[in-house]
Amino acid sequence: MKRPKSFLVGSFLYQVLWETDLKDSEGGGAYGLQDSEHQTVQMDKASGNEDHKREVFVHEVVHALNSRANLDNLVFNGNPKLEEKYAATIAPWLLDWLRMNPEVVAWVMGVDGAEAE
Ligand SMILES: [Zn+2]
Repeated sequence: MKRPKSFLVGSFLYQVLWETDLKDSEGGGAYGLQDSEHQTVQMDKASGNEDHKREVFVHEVVHALNSRANLDNLVFNGNPKLEEKYAATIAPWLLDWLRMNPEVVAWVMGVDGAEAE
């Protein structure tokens, strides 16, 4: 399976940039970064194994969803630390749920062959 190069959040197309030596806004190392203004997710392609990258990617997608759904303000009251805590908590659970329930995911997605009953 190839690593994603883009994904949609609503009608917004996000580019996934696989980079090395990723730095956050304070100059610290980062595994992934999300920028809703520019609709990008930057991923560190050098660090961690593929499963770790998947979890980081889901974490960044949660940030993108929170931003596009305006949860940043509606739920997290503009508190980036609270929103970060939520993304860090829910991402591994969401990824695990997706992995553990492929038939349910197929049904939710309306994939051909997913049984109605
Ligand atoms: Zn984060």
